Amino acid sequence: MRLRFDPHLVNDPFGDPGLFVDCRDERRALLFDLGDLRALPPRKLLRVSHAFVSHTHMDHFAGFDHLLRVVLGRKAQLTLVGGPQFVDQGEHKLRAYAWNVVHRYEVELVLDVLAVAPDGSGERARFSSRRAFARDGTQAFRWADDVLLDTALLRVRGGFVDHGIPCLAFVIEEKARVKLAKDRLDALGLSTGAWLRGLKQAVLAGASDDTPIDIEWRDARGAHRTTRPLGALRDVVLAVAPGQRIGYVTDLRHTEANIARLKALLGGVDRLYIEAVFLHADLAHAQRKHHLTARQAGEIARAVGAHDVVPFHFSPRYADHPEALQREVIAAWRHAP
Ligand SMILES: [Zn+2]
Ligand SMILES: [Zn+2]
Repeated sequence: MRLRFDPHLVNDPFGDPGLFVDCRDERRALLFDLGDLRALPPRKLLRVSHAFVSHTHMDHFAGFDHLLRVVLGRKAQLTLVGGPQFVDQGEHKLRAYAWNVVHRYEVELVLDVLAVAPDGSGERARFSSRRAFARDGTQAFRWADDVLLDTALLRVRGGFVDHGIPCLAFVIEEKARVKLAKDRLDALGLSTGAWLRGLKQAVLAGASDDTPIDIEWRDARGAHRTTRPLGALRDVVLAVAPGQRIGYVTDLRHTEANIARLKALLGGVDRLYIEAVFLHADLAHAQRKHHLTARQAGEIARAVGAHDVVPFHFSPRYADHPEALQREVIAAWRHAP
């Protein structure tokens, strides 16, 4: 089944970690981690509506400046989401520059910055180019569930893992989709149009048969408008299919608590992007750096029931034999120890 979002790693597995998720149907993209972003052309960065930062080690956050430079003066709104102190850290980045002319730019840029913490507390603030990116409208909120973004088509959830510091792991979930038999519309004397979105939403929401569905379309004979109860349109609905789920997991220690959290957050994902920094022969080094070995990454992919696994965040020490890391991940994912 075609995904309604298209994920790809920003860099090769030795480059800074990052996942770009193009959501064409929503005319937006999501970005996970802000390391070296120069591989993404400006037209892609301009599509980003939300950037999620797992933690603020430099290889995950140093690209904030690049992103800001590309969108400034060209984009109206960008939401940034990160862990504890993320609002302060974003503010510190903004304070490092002089902003004496940006208030005159035709397009105002508003950064909406959200910080969430493992205890369920959250803080958000806005920073506008019209006001030299001074902090504005700081609010506390409760991060009651693990949802970080909820749109008509998808949901992003996050959970904290331990990397010596709290670090967010993410899952991107496509919402269930409704398949329609467009030929059966003809039999009802109806035609396709934007109104089908309302029909799909009513089906997904479990609306009752007497729910009125507004129907509008345009053709050569002009505009048509009518209303039918949902029950009269049931024949048009062929199936409700569950959505696909993608996990993005980096950086973390190999602990039982981390594995339990990942199972709860992203069990059964269709594809798991997971760090595999060192070979298992270098386990002691991985432990010192609070990272996974390739074997541990594969074992985690197996433990969470991932249907596909894509390793990344390889240490440069393996630059001349990346296939060793790749093989170790896949072997551990496929075969029980
Ligand atoms: Zn890190
Ligand atoms: Zn890292």
